[in-house]
Amino acid sequence: MLWASEVSSFLHCSHVFLSLKFYWTFFFAIDIIAENHFLYFMKSIRDFTIATLGSHTALQILKGAKDEGFKTLCICHKDRKKPYESYGVADEILEIENYEDFFKIEDELIAKNAIIIPHGSFVSYIGFERMKELRVMHYGTKGILEWESDRVKERVWLKKSGLTLPRIYKNPEEIDRAVIVKFHGAKGGKGYFIANNSQEFHENIKKYPGENDYVLQEYVVGVPVYTHYFYSRLNDELEVMSFDKRYESNADSIGRIAARDQLDVNILTSYTITGNIPIVMRESLLPEIFTMGENVVKTSREFVSGGLFGPFCLEAIIDPNLNFYVFEISARIVAGTNPYINGSPYTWLRYHEPMSTGRRIARDIREAIEKDALSKVLG
Ligand code: AMP
Repeated sequence: MLWASEVSSFLHCSHVFLSLKFYWTFFFAIDIIAENHFLYFMKSIRDFTIATLGSHTALQILKGAKDEGFKTLCICHKDRKKPYESYGVADEILEIENYEDFFKIEDELIAKNAIIIPHGSFVSYIGFERMKELRVMHYGTKGILEWESDRVKERVWLKKSGLTLPRIYKNPEEIDRAVIVKFHGAKGGKGYFIANNSQEFHENIKKYPGENDYVLQEYVVGVPVYTHYFYSRLNDELEVMSFDKRYESNADSIGRIAARDQLDVNILTSYTITGNIPIVMRESLLPEIFTMGENVVKTSREFVSGGLFGPFCLEAIIDPNLNFYVFEISARIVAGTNPYINGSPYTWLRYHEPMSTGRRIARDIREAIEKDALSKVLG
């Protein structure tokens, strides 16, 4: 009996020992896997560099990328380095003599595993035609930039999305109400003017000799509102990030002088953008705002393979009956998101941490890397 109980106690002890050994080995293995995975994951993020051109929204793009754990690189015109040095958002600054030189440094960017984030100045300086030639990794669908850059295509897209647009006049003799005359390729609203009839149009156009590429758009009396959206292909969800209105010279200064004086000094209203002002929208308008954004994303897939994703903006005038007249779309990050480097009231509702549009882009890329789905954010 003694022998049997010794054997039983031995078996019991060895069972406990084996069990402990098993559990220890199991937890050790889990630990190794987790640690390796963590290292692998960290290495993956640090393997990439988020890069952009030093202008427009580069500060928030680079800051956001840093906050998400990426290395950052700013490609800077030699005369525009100061802010990117001063705010410390770039791990590296690559200087170029002029914007044409971007393609000369492209191989260097490729070697660094850089992902380029396009913004308004980038598209404008490089041009959407040349952007198609980019070999370096690029966040967003390149083809969609052609649709936002071409006023005719843009209208087709917006109309197909069920949005209301200001009327377009094919020739000046048709003008029967106030129109805004927009020159094609005008940078930041510079040089636009208002004409109330064809006579006024012919009078004012003389001040722009040689300019014959313009559009005559119905001038909608109302308040301008720029809605900043973000759509991720990873979770197939549209987010409303924030809103802004622009601070335009001299349109925003005319109200500071009496009507009598305005007539005296014969001011030509212009809309040169100088900055952006945050807006919080009337909450009951939000459902319609979400629907408009969702429709724009949906229809984009009919025009460009892969469709629109990432940040975009609908630029609208809201009239006193709360109708939205959408006069433009930007299919990339807009400068109106700059007031929200620390997040907006809307991103606070969703994220509980500072979330700029720049950071949201970096998060999209980070999540794509984590899910081994980088191709979902490149285009
Ligand atoms: P844009 O360069 O097209 O973004 O326009 C510059 C500015 O002109 C906008 O911020 C608006 O203040 C104004 N604007 C543009 N289109 C219209 C329009 N159809 N009706 C009224 N204001 C407009």
